[in-house]
Amino acid sequence: MKKTVMIAAVALAMCGCAPKSDNPLFNEFTAPFGIAPFSEITIEHYREGMLKGMDEQKAEIAAIVANQDAPTFENTIEAMDCSGELLRKVRGTFSPLSSSNSTDEMRELEKELSPLFSSHSDDIYMNADLFARVKAVYEQRESLGLNAEQSKVLENIYKRFVNSGAELNDEQKAKLRELNKELSMLQLTFSQNLLYETNNTFVTVDSVEELAGLPEENIAAAAKMAEQNGQAGKWMFNMQRPSCNPVLQYCENRELREKVYNAYYNRGNQDNDHDNKAISAKIVALRLEKARLMGFENYAQMALDDRMAKTPEAVYNLLEQVWTPAVKKAQEEIEDIRREIRKEGKNFEPAGWDYMYYLDKAKKAKYAVDEQEIRSYLEINNVMQGVFYVANKLYGLTFKEITADVPSYEPSAKAYEVIDRDGKTLAIFYSDNFPRESKRAGAWCTSFRGQSYENGGRVIPIVVNCCNSAASTGDGPALQSIDNVETIFHEFGHALHSFMRDVQYNGAGGVERDFVELPSQINEHWAFHPEVLAVYAKHYKTGEIIPMELVKKIEESSKYGQGFATVEYIAASLSDMDLHVLTEIPENLNVMDFEAEGLAKRGIPSQILPRYRMTNFSHTMGGGYTAGYYSYMWAEVLDADAFDAFAETGDIFNQEVATKFRNHILTPGGIDDGMTMYKAFRGREPQIDALLRNRGMK
Ligand SMILES: [Zn+2]
Repeated sequence: MKKTVMIAAVALAMCGCAPKSDNPLFNEFTAPFGIAPFSEITIEHYREGMLKGMDEQKAEIAAIVANQDAPTFENTIEAMDCSGELLRKVRGTFSPLSSSNSTDEMRELEKELSPLFSSHSDDIYMNADLFARVKAVYEQRESLGLNAEQSKVLENIYKRFVNSGAELNDEQKAKLRELNKELSMLQLTFSQNLLYETNNTFVTVDSVEELAGLPEENIAAAAKMAEQNGQAGKWMFNMQRPSCNPVLQYCENRELREKVYNAYYNRGNQDNDHDNKAISAKIVALRLEKARLMGFENYAQMALDDRMAKTPEAVYNLLEQVWTPAVKKAQEEIEDIRREIRKEGKNFEPAGWDYMYYLDKAKKAKYAVDEQEIRSYLEINNVMQGVFYVANKLYGLTFKEITADVPSYEPSAKAYEVIDRDGKTLAIFYSDNFPRESKRAGAWCTSFRGQSYENGGRVIPIVVNCCNSAASTGDGPALQSIDNVETIFHEFGHALHSFMRDVQYNGAGGVERDFVELPSQINEHWAFHPEVLAVYAKHYKTGEIIPMELVKKIEESSKYGQGFATVEYIAASLSDMDLHVLTEIPENLNVMDFEAEGLAKRGIPSQILPRYRMTNFSHTMGGGYTAGYYSYMWAEVLDADAFDAFAETGDIFNQEVATKFRNHILTPGGIDDGMTMYKAFRGREPQIDALLRNRGMK
């Protein structure tokens, strides 16, 4: 198959007369680095491209099945791995934009195509004749002389068939199809409701006096938002974190904090047209049905089957080890908060909307850390210099901004050529930092094109980091919070993983869900290291490097607030697990009550809610991290332990360790399972001690 593709490509190149299509997606992308001509592609082009992409792959699959030769790795597995090239190209171009530059028509198209994609995938992975060929190859795998990557691709494809129901009878297969289709629609509706609620749930304030305590740039941003929404002269906040978080952290007005807090945590729970309660309950029920059909007791068992953790027990074991010390830590923080309230001559019992506000005060009292002062050293362009500096010191990468001749999908996103130590182009990187209405909340890393091989040459990946960092208002600098900087380093860790991946087969690219966060989370460890801060943390007005005294304070205070952060995170992880280990769905399941009861039983302090509540928990309900939100902590065991490998040498840029990390973790993609790769890097299994120490719990 690879050979055929090559010959076809050569033939085309020789005659040089491939007819140009009206649809840019059907032509070769001729801009530098093969970047898509974004502005020329219309919604109709995308629709046509995806439909044709599916048709082409269908034909390719039919050809594999029709092959009269006995099944071999090349004519079956490799051929499958190569199939769907056009679909990959079109979806690769469309998907990042559907999260960052979404329009009504894009959302409509997603809705229209979602069931088609789901049945397209079912058509492939429930195809009995195709499975018979795959199985035949799988059964001879020991004698085929496959290399490690080929073995992994074969195993992945085989398992995907089994997990897609290839071994079910026809009636069961039909049921599974129906469930998949329904689930994908519900998950999409959930996500779209949430996007709507995040952007369109507003808290409006009539007088600026009510905003006492709020930093000026946030007041200005709120005024701008009001103006954009026809409420000039007022101040508005939506439920994007950069808009609403500062209210919770800085506003003296307790009533306003309460309003914003309730609005934020009740996204999807407002009994309106975008309510996600019934949808979530339905999703959970259908998932259980699917798991049962596949021979599992519950959905979590099924989801964990191909992850590092393997079983729900292993997940609970990890979460529970950290839960108890975290709640204890949170109780200490709440005690500090009570003290701060008393200092103001008041004596009310703190509620959720008091937590961030008074914790910030307690932190200042304890460590005299002023977040505002720190922010003046964290201007976005400087932060990006810090991000690049670390990648350069560790791996020798350099970043050249590309300004001309490269199509841009968004004027505020910057494009860079990533150049490796040996001078070769390793990847293209888009850095898309600021919020806009068409962008969903949160931060993520995605690709317009993944790394692959074509005709023996490495096709470089085109990687995107999307964040919702604090934007500048007017001409002012875009100053970031510590959290935002952490997020930028985090997403860039994912980007490094994508830049460096070097696999021959598409099917060897992915890693286990609970391994994914290792490269991203380890990258956060460099963000506030004094040696790194000294390079990038410069005062936006004076250019003065952040004083060592302030660096020390950041270090000392960084563990403060971990009680809250850990409890809210584990609470969400536990709820995610609790819902998906159910073996029976209670009648009239109300996911909000279920969540609250489960957490109350475990003794969650009343001042803390799960980081996401069920109606706005897109990680689990949207589908990506179902029975998988624990992964961040699972990976934190790994990243804390892995960073120790650097720290133990006394040099956070130790080249020997960096090379090992690159070779064993970043480059191999998913050609091996996570634990094997980790052990190859570390020389042993990961240990939890470093995590507890970093969170100030040991
Ligand atoms: Zn991540």
